[in-house]
This record gives sequence, C-alpha cells and structure tokens, in this order.
Amino acid sequence: MKVYKFGGASVKDVNGIRNLAKIVSKTDREPLMIVVSAMGKSTNALERMLGLRFSGHSFKEAFETFKKQHLHICRELISDFEKVKKLLNSDFDLLEYRLGLKELMSYDYEYDQIVSMGEIFSTKIIHAYMEESRLESRWLDARQLILTDDNYRAARVQLEKTVDTIREASSNYNGISVVQGFIAHNELGNTTTLGREGSDYTAALLAYALDVSEVTIWKDVDGVYNADPKIFEKTKLIPELSYRDAVELAFYGASIIHPKTIQPLQKKKINLRVRSFYYPEKLGTTVASKKKNENLPSSFIVKKNQVLISLVPRDFSFMDAENMGLAFQILAKHQHHINLIQNSAISFSVCVDFNHAHFHSLIQELADKFELRYNENQVLVTIRHYDVALIEKIYDLLRFKLEQRNRSTYQVLMSEEEFELKLLPILN
Ligand code: ASP
Ligand code: MG
Repeated sequence: MKVYKFGGASVKDVNGIRNLAKIVSKTDREPLMIVVSAMGKSTNALERMLGLRFSGHSFKEAFETFKKQHLHICRELISDFEKVKKLLNSDFDLLEYRLGLKELMSYDYEYDQIVSMGEIFSTKIIHAYMEESRLESRWLDARQLILTDDNYRAARVQLEKTVDTIREASSNYNGISVVQGFIAHNELGNTTTLGREGSDYTAALLAYALDVSEVTIWKDVDGVYNADPKIFEKTKLIPELSYRDAVELAFYGASIIHPKTIQPLQKKKINLRVRSFYYPEKLGTTVASKKKNENLPSSFIVKKNQVLISLVPRDFSFMDAENMGLAFQILAKHQHHINLIQNSAISFSVCVDFNHAHFHSLIQELADKFELRYNENQVLVTIRHYDVALIEKIYDLLRFKLEQRNRSTYQVLMSEEEFELKLLPILN
C-alpha cells in the first residue's frame, strides 16, 4: 500500500491531472490511496463566495465562474463530457442551494459545508479521468472516513474510530482510491474541515491507519527549501530533515507541510517524502526519524498577518499562572493560533495569527479582564539553526517589538515595512 498526496497546484489544470495519472500509473500494481486537494485556487474562490454571502452581496457571478472553470477542465479532459457534467451537477446545485439559504448558521459551520466542496469536485473529476484512462480506481468519501469533533474549520480528529473506518474501507481493494484531503465529518454527520492546507494531514492519517512505510507529497517545488523562494533570492534544498525540524519549520509557517502532518507519521516512524510533481526522478526531501543533523543550513520562515497583543490585568495583579491561563483560554476560545509569548511581572505579550472572523470577539472578551494594546500587520520571522553574527546584525537594525531566542531558534516580530525595507535586504 502506498499513500500519495497531490496539492491544489498539482491538479490546477488539465495537464496537471494528466501528469497525476502518469505518476500513479507507475506504481507497480500496489494498492494506492491518493489524497487530493481542491483544484488550484478553488478553496480561495469558495471562501470568497462565502464572504460575499455573509456580507449580503451576490455570490452568483463568482459561483458561475467557479462552475465554468471546473466544467471547462472536464470538457478538455474527458471524452464523455455529458456523463461527468451530470455527475457534478448535483454537487453544483447543492453548493448553490447552500449559498442561497435564507437563514445561515454560524460562519464556521457554513464555511465547512461550503468550502469543503472544492475537494468533492476535484476528486470526482480526477476519478472520472482515471476511469477513462482505464486505471482501476474508486472514489472514496473522506466525510465518511475521518471522524472529528464539532470544532468547525479546525476540527480535531478522533483517531481510534477513524483508524478503524479507514482500515475497513481499504481491506479487499487493490486499485487506486481517490480521496479528498482536508474534509471530514462529526458525530452529527455534518461536514468539518481540518484547517487550511489540511490535506497533508489527511494523507498522514491514512498512512498511520494503514501502516504504510512512506507517504509522498507531490508538489510544484523540488522539495523542502530553507526559505520560501517566492520571498528570498538564494535558497537551498534540504535533502533530509528530522521529524522535529519538520514540525518546527511547519509550525512557524513554512508553508511546505501542514504542521499536524508529522505527529501521526512520527508515532509509527513513517517516512515522508516531498517530491517534484514535474520532475519525479528527483529525490526531493525525506523527513524521517534521524539523529540531529549538524549540517543543516539556517532556515528562514516568514509569517505575515500577525497581531501583537499586550495585556495587563485590570486589577494590577501579577501575570501569574491564573491570569495567563485565562488569557490562553480566551485566545483558544476565539481560535487564535499563538506563535510567540513573553511575560513580565504584570504584562503578557502574545503574537497570534490574525483570524479575521474572530478577532473582534477576541478583543472584546480580553478587554473585560485586561488592559490591552494591539498592533496589526506584523511579520514574524523565525530563523532555525541561526547564525549568531546575523542576529546581532538584526538587533542593531530593527526597532523590533518582540524578540526571542533559544539554542536552535531565533524569532523576531516587526512591522511589514521594517521587514520589507530593512530585514529582507540583509537576508537576500
Ligand atoms: N484545499 C484546502 C486548502 O487550500 C486544503 C489543502 O489544499 O490542503 O487549504
Ligand atoms: Mg493546498
């Protein structure tokens, strides 16, 4: 058994889907699970439609464009176009119906019902193409395989039941199973999602349940780099990474692997390979359990859209475990992912990912208990395996708001302007 994952960029167009079929047809008749994301930027498109709906604007045009784009790919790819069109039409109708409902439930609930549809379309189209290419395959519904709690948009997986269901679904089948990443269901039978870019995590869950020795993530880059080539001029491919380094890089925003992916793999010592979708002969990066690698280059991770929140208890009491506990609880309740914290006797600063949908309610609840200040549009730069001379240079250069370092990781928070004008030039 093998598990492959193909991201949105790999299946963004007809050529991508043909290439996917070419790659999977090379696996020597071994059963294969392929986990697929929504095509190209369709998750963003669905988010936009939902945003329009929630702000009382018409989503019709965006919906029609979305539908047209998908059907266009089908027309180019599949000879019996009418058959796939019929297959997809019921899902398009469902999507349109949901978006048009008069009464909406919470944003997060509707998000999962609507945004999850991107993966339904991509997998149905890919499966239709596999049938056409005479690859023995079936379409599997991740909404029946993966069970989560009710935490819409960031649902937590109930591992034991999920493992049982996956095992049952894959026994006695030797072909290629096409399954959606990112989406799942809860006990109520409603669709949930695992968080943006969560398809990697789905692949890891399947690998864990099926005890495979390796998962491959096919990407539009050659492997894991020490910095994002879209931001930095000079970058290096890292051929081997430990689970620990992979988690640290992913957690601080290296957009190469979803941070939750590593845990199930690490538990069963399953290797993760990140390989090029365009150049499958290249080795890419292998993430595996290994001793500390002394020769790792410094890695640079840039996370934008951060907010720095500083809190002081209103009654001027110490920022002790109780007060910090309260702050953490409120942050978790309003779904703000924490990236950095720092405290003094009476103050507590925390850098979080800005979560548009919940920021207002977060600030309101925090303001009940704490005096607070916040700065939006900050950039968090994390340097793993840093070079001391470089961070001294950074220290002299910036009016940073927050800085922290331990033996292997250095982090600094600054405004977007400082990042672009001061830091980036010295790093490039
Ligand atoms: N389609 C989802 C997203 O774009 C999940 C994924 O691609 O992993 O976030
Ligand atoms: Mg993706």
